[in-house]
Amino acid sequence: MNVCVIGTGYVGLVTGTVFADLGNEVICVDNVKKKIDMLKSGVMPIYEPGLRELVLRNVEEKRLSFTTSISKGVRNSKVVFIAVGTPPKANGESDLTAVEIAAKEIAQNMDDYKIIVNKSTVPVGTGNFVRNIIEKYKKNDCEFDVVSNPEFLKEGSAISDCLYPDRIVIGVPNHHVAMSLLELYAPLERPMLITDVESAELIKYASNAFLATKISFINFIANVCEKAGADVTLVAKGMGYDTRIGAHFLGAGLGYGGSCFPKDTLSLLCTAKKLGEDSTLLEAVIDINENRVPRFVKRISARLKPMKGKVIGVLGLAFKPNTDDLRDAKSLEIIKNLLKKKAIVRVYDPIALENAKPLLKGAVFCKNPYDLAKGTDALVVVTEWNEFKLLNLEKLRQSMRGCYLFDGRNIYTRERAERAGFKYICIGMR
Ligand code: NAD
Repeated sequence: MNVCVIGTGYVGLVTGTVFADLGNEVICVDNVKKKIDMLKSGVMPIYEPGLRELVLRNVEEKRLSFTTSISKGVRNSKVVFIAVGTPPKANGESDLTAVEIAAKEIAQNMDDYKIIVNKSTVPVGTGNFVRNIIEKYKKNDCEFDVVSNPEFLKEGSAISDCLYPDRIVIGVPNHHVAMSLLELYAPLERPMLITDVESAELIKYASNAFLATKISFINFIANVCEKAGADVTLVAKGMGYDTRIGAHFLGAGLGYGGSCFPKDTLSLLCTAKKLGEDSTLLEAVIDINENRVPRFVKRISARLKPMKGKVIGVLGLAFKPNTDDLRDAKSLEIIKNLLKKKAIVRVYDPIALENAKPLLKGAVFCKNPYDLAKGTDALVVVTEWNEFKLLNLEKLRQSMRGCYLFDGRNIYTRERAERAGFKYICIGMR
């Protein structure tokens, strides 16, 4: 099938490449020329494990190409995916400007029947919004359908999530169009759910909001554990054995960040409010999450005060491991807080350092964790990269000035940290 993907970011580039790998002819479009030039010369604009090899192979086999021309992409394709960003506006609503622009450009370039698929995460009702734009701006009198096909991939494991999704949700206005999408996804042999467009749009928000709720719930329990003398890792383990609850998303920590959960929970909140529905539950989820960093920084300050001149080493900047994405990363919030308190902040991340440089003026960028630890009063774990889990804690401790280890992701045990000479402060334990 000939496929066009508009927006060559984390979602568009990965899904476009996977469609190509399944044998389709795929044109990926982006309006940032630098990105397209990088891709044309074999350089990935984002870090995602396994992506480069897959892109290069499919380009070489002529199933995958890159362009800045929507016209070229649309004219050559039957199915056109919209995978542009939908960031939050100041009031929390999703900003649909990029979706609107993409839809207009699709309309102006349609030359025969097209299936336009919203893969971006968009509020319920956006299918109609896109349909109306296309009706208004289309130059030729061609037929088209607008479909919702939300994406559930996770950065860091995006390729395998795309190849082996838990489910594929396809929200369609009629059964005829469903067949084309079923055909496109059939080689994956994964569960597919065909729904109306509105339900598909809401499935994405409901899923992300539910996962965010699980995280905020365990973080609330962590707060109780800290005061009650219990251990949240044991509490979570005990809860997770219950199959009705499940063990996933019960890791207490610094809260959810990244480009999806914060914006999607806010967007759903706005939708519910607009519809006149009580949103107390979601407000509490968001409040708990927003309190994670201030609470953590308070615990750091209580031990290190006065903070002025204290040297703090931050391990991990990406919003989660295996990605270079810093959108809504907890690290940025923590570091800005520490700098504001006049601490000297040294930082290290295995992949995201370059992306962080323009965002963290005033921080000292280090080559590796051992370099980071030199002369510090405290280390702070913010991202649970695997390479941090087996660090030589004795060696780190020896090059430090102080002895505090603040573990925002509970990747060490108290016993191991104390054996290395640290005073260990983690989440959800005294
Ligand atoms: P991104 O910012 O990485 O990529 C979006 C791309 O679209 C950018 O490269 C941008 O230059 C391009 N773009 C914007 N307007 C364009 C236009 N008019 N024409 C051509 N290109 C244009 O964003 P992302 O993380 O890939 O997310 C895209 C959507 O998918 C969002 O709605 C997001 O919520 C959703 N989503 C993201 C993830 C994730 O893990 N990142 C997972 C599931 C769903």
